Amino acid sequence: MQHIKNYINGQLIEPVSKTYLDNYDPSTGKVYSYIPDSDEKDVELAYAAAKNAFKEWSILPKDKRSQYLLKIAALIEKNLDKLALAESIDNGKPLKLAKTVDIPRAAANFHFYGTGILHYASHAHSMEDSAINYTLRQPVGVAGCISPWNLPLYLFSWKIAPALAAGCTVVAKPSEVTPMTAYLLSELCVEAGLPAGVLNIVHGLGGKVGNAIVSHKDIPLISFTGGTTTGKHIASIAAPMFKKLSLELGGKNPNLIFADCDYEKMLSTTMLSSFANQGQICLCGSRIFVERKIYDKFKTDFIAKTKALVVGDPRDEKTKVGAVVSKPHQEKILSYIELAKQEGGKILCGGNPIKMSGEFSEGYYIEPTIIEGLNYDCRTNQEEIFGPVVTITPFDTEEEALKMANSTIYGLASVVWTQDLTKAHRIANNIHAGIVWINCWLLRDLRTPFGGVKASGVGREGGFEALDFFTEPKNVCVKL
Ligand code: NDP
Repeated sequence: MQHIKNYINGQLIEPVSKTYLDNYDPSTGKVYSYIPDSDEKDVELAYAAAKNAFKEWSILPKDKRSQYLLKIAALIEKNLDKLALAESIDNGKPLKLAKTVDIPRAAANFHFYGTGILHYASHAHSMEDSAINYTLRQPVGVAGCISPWNLPLYLFSWKIAPALAAGCTVVAKPSEVTPMTAYLLSELCVEAGLPAGVLNIVHGLGGKVGNAIVSHKDIPLISFTGGTTTGKHIASIAAPMFKKLSLELGGKNPNLIFADCDYEKMLSTTMLSSFANQGQICLCGSRIFVERKIYDKFKTDFIAKTKALVVGDPRDEKTKVGAVVSKPHQEKILSYIELAKQEGGKILCGGNPIKMSGEFSEGYYIEPTIIEGLNYDCRTNQEEIFGPVVTITPFDTEEEALKMANSTIYGLASVVWTQDLTKAHRIANNIHAGIVWINCWLLRDLRTPFGGVKASGVGREGGFEALDFFTEPKNVCVKL
């Protein structure tokens, strides 16, 4: 069986401890490879390599750095099929989704920052004839990047690409639950000839490797995407060390559906925003609020479409919903469905684990689930479930919809469905979320700032904001 390796100082190497963890295929529930059980010794090696590489990488002309990133982007595109298959096996997601969304977007991240850095400029401020100020933007140093399992390569590259473009060197940890695409990326970096130590990938557990990165005294910047509880823990270590921090955390995103929407477009997109990637996208809309005038119609149509979703073998073209990522995660989702029942929720469809046949009989499958009849402020409607589970709730007025939408500790993304332009903009203005999609979902322009408010995080990724994050501004004031 394959042993994944760490990527340190340009080499693919074993962990110092020589110990490994099991890596599961969620679609079969079977171990299919092994992942380094690294610890602070491996992080130290990675840090030393990154520190050493920083001297040259940080002053390498931008166009040279750009060429490396574009080469990596091209290699990801060239290896699309292999990477998509690896991500589907690692994560349980439909192969088609990996092929059409995750992997192309990972290539796009390298492409975007490989070209973006060429156009990144700093500011100058003239004080008429007394002085001139200009701002130097210098790479911060060795960046620590930690990413989750739900969109493994996409979110990993979303951090690494701007860090490298900005001139930082990197010590990165992908999720231990889905390490394979990050490993394949390290092979592509070797093939691209990326100088040794510029990117270092250390595999292993969050509590060991992640913690060692976050608490490393000489890593001045942490870019983290993951759960809110982990984010809070990381902030408690990094903040007293005055590290630069970007935290992209959980969500409990509302969908507001008004009676005047383009109904068919809304319905088909709501299917995706509810159940794509088994509902394991931080941007999925898990609380659906529907104007009462169309509530019954929506409920009937939504249930019918949900029941028709094909759940099963992620590699089958017909599959729309694959396996959830792990056994503990499956148990967590099912426990929330039980909680919903205890809170008075009515399961309109789904609600159960699915026992598949043959090689998939031990896989982690859950029926796409719709629940109604819950108060907007109950736990099921307030806590992140992160699975194929949505609640639906009717509303009468815009004020009521907004009150329910804004009632959680989270504020990542939101969706508004209406043909009334003024109402759409008014709601966008009043909703507590870092992202508002109007009559669409998951459309991304990489130039825009990405991230949440409240417990969904601090800092912004995407666009030039990410390049700002990985560089330190220094103002130079020159007396004329
Ligand atoms: P976790 O917070 O459990 O883990 C995220 C990463 O942090 C993993 O690599 C994990 O390692 C690591 N980690 C865990 N503990 C520590 C620690 N003490 N110190 C440092 N690193 C640690 O999140 P999940 O992987 O479960 O991902 C799902 C969560 O991510 C959801 O809440 C989702 O909403 C959120 N998310 C947010 C996004 C956003 O942009 N706002 C985008 C995508 C997901 P290990 O895997 O070994 O535990």
